[in-house]
Amino acid sequence: MSVDRAYFDGMEAKIPRGSVRTRFAPSPTGYMHVGNLRTALYTWLIARRAGGTFILRIEDTDQGRYVPGAVDVIYRTMAECGLTHDEGPDVGGPVAPYIQSERRDTYGRYAELLVSLGGAYYCFCGKETEEPAESKEIKKHVCSCPSLSSEEVQRRIAAGEPYVIRQKIPAGTTTFHDAVFGDITVDNDTLDDQVLLKSDGLPTYNFANVIDDHLMGITHVVRGSEYLSSAPKYNLLYESFGWEIPTYVHCSPVMRDAQNKMSKRHGDPSYEDLKAQGYLTEAILNYVALLGWSPKGEQAEQEIFSLEELAKAFDMAGISKSPAIFDIAKLDHFNALYLRSLPAEKFAAVADPYIRQSVKNPAIDTAEIAALLQAR
Ligand SMILES: [Zn+2]
Repeated sequence: MSVDRAYFDGMEAKIPRGSVRTRFAPSPTGYMHVGNLRTALYTWLIARRAGGTFILRIEDTDQGRYVPGAVDVIYRTMAECGLTHDEGPDVGGPVAPYIQSERRDTYGRYAELLVSLGGAYYCFCGKETEEPAESKEIKKHVCSCPSLSSEEVQRRIAAGEPYVIRQKIPAGTTTFHDAVFGDITVDNDTLDDQVLLKSDGLPTYNFANVIDDHLMGITHVVRGSEYLSSAPKYNLLYESFGWEIPTYVHCSPVMRDAQNKMSKRHGDPSYEDLKAQGYLTEAILNYVALLGWSPKGEQAEQEIFSLEELAKAFDMAGISKSPAIFDIAKLDHFNALYLRSLPAEKFAAVADPYIRQSVKNPAIDTAEIAALLQAR
């Protein structure tokens, strides 16, 4: 199959270069959990501190998870938090579209390009051979498809045989660098020939991420440390394409206690839940910023940060390797500090619904009660 050089050259030419570009790439699930909000915040801060560009990308290729109205929750949360984006589905930009489902055609082309570069292969084995192989720990896919001749591959594709495209993992070791965890080397034997393009033509999460991050000129990728193990496979993809690898910034999870990650499923509050419970956005953001990051130098003791102050102070060197435990008492403390510092009228407006719950007489002016409450 001949490679459409003009298409790929055209895509390369569109990539903005020479400045920091970061992206927040949520899946539209219908709520913003605390860990996600922290990722959004750190990603935004890295861009703002460097005078760079912050991009919002919607990762909706996993159609099974689609929730109506869920994209609106993302826009609303970002706007409320002041995490303004410079490029995104609603504002456009030089590397549009910013919604993965609208980029579908791109992934197939790049998967085919990768095959021609020797970094991937067509696999016709179907689901039955995706069962775990001999080892229980490593679910490695092994088949003879990588050795099929290109004529044989073309014949089977033309005959309408379903296929997936898998990453070809070479022998040896892979070393990658992370801004938080340093250099990590893994034996390639531990890496699976993961599916990049599914039989329905849609990309897998990992493949779409690499393609989009490259084509959008992303320089720093902030994500949860649960993705550390897939980073070597990312590196091998970048290397096969001959692309520059972005700076990885893996953050340890936000935990509900020493053992368990926070999760909506186990009743842990999302950003929306915290708002509904009366926490101020500024207090939530301030607290979340310090969940896994601490300021250094003159500001090492500082606790209260506005978003602008964070954008000046946020240094990746302050990101912690240890998991952070979400402590509602600590958030209460921040919320109290922020409530006390609000102008009286603003506090009265915030407090009104809560005061009305106990004060039923409409003749009573809640602002006066608010004034008494604010100092406490
Ligand atoms: Zn196969």
